[in-house]
Amino acid sequence: MYITYERAEFDVNDIGEIRRVVGEAYHNGVEASKHGRVADYIPELAKGKADDFGICMLGTSGEPIAFGDVEKRFSIQSISKVINLAASLKFLGFRETFSHVGMEPTGDTFNSILKLDTVSDLPFNPMINAGAIQIMSMLSNIMDFDELLGFARAFCMDDKIELNTPVYLSESETGDRNRAIAYLLKSKGVLQGDPDKTLDLYFKMCSLNVNAKTLANMGLLLACRGQNPFSGKHVIYPGYIRTIKSLMFTCGLYDESGEFGVMVGLPSKSGVGGGIVSTVSDRWGIGTFGPALNEKSNSAGGIAALKHISHLLKLNVFS
Ligand code: GLU
Repeated sequence: MYITYERAEFDVNDIGEIRRVVGEAYHNGVEASKHGRVADYIPELAKGKADDFGICMLGTSGEPIAFGDVEKRFSIQSISKVINLAASLKFLGFRETFSHVGMEPTGDTFNSILKLDTVSDLPFNPMINAGAIQIMSMLSNIMDFDELLGFARAFCMDDKIELNTPVYLSESETGDRNRAIAYLLKSKGVLQGDPDKTLDLYFKMCSLNVNAKTLANMGLLLACRGQNPFSGKHVIYPGYIRTIKSLMFTCGLYDESGEFGVMVGLPSKSGVGGGIVSTVSDRWGIGTFGPALNEKSNSAGGIAALKHISHLLKLNVFS
């Protein structure tokens, strides 16, 4: 298949051309990062470097297309919400999971308490803090951190994922807003576990160290319907992947999810550590890392790079 754009016609299956597009996306990402700001509401995050940027795209060939800072480890932050949801679906099931958390976007910031107090007793969806904390309260009754870490490693096809202890301690020391969410859920009688145990697990999952390659791996596992394409192992049932990707598409980029859906059109999840994971069904996982964030707390460079790739390679799911 050939697509037409400003410079030429090219074969979207030609790996040389794809590499060229990803290289251009990398440069766009570097430029856009100059207009972002590193998150500073958790002291350890403020140590991020605004000019770091990397992108990795991985298909089932196992040969990554990678530019920039793709090996550098950073904290996964909200991208862990995808892993938490996957664990809940796998170990507790669809019905139990969605008996305690909704499926609707909020249009609010990721750590908002507003609608939780005024509109609904249950958190709106698993991709915002309230929803992820609710999921952790369920998981805290059946799994400990080491078991969840093992699942995260399988889900991201990365055995080197570890806890970033300074980030975890920093999260835990300054996480009053998340404490407020957990205790509000408890006060409403909907939290499913002990609030402090729940929060400890939540903070630890936010503090996993990943890199852009890890995120590309995660995106590829999602693209392959939950099967590790290299080992053949089924990590999670394909029907659950559909649910996860739907929620990533509608709720994955905080209160920029709608615009991102229009401009990029790929199931994706961002984190304030600067990562974005994206998935292209049956083809690729894409991981970007750029700690300079835009005003919606999404990686400025990551968004610019993904727009370019999606546009030129026609990857929008509705293309
Ligand atoms: N640990 C962060 C928090 O709970 C995660 C934020 C994010 O990446 O959206 O506030």
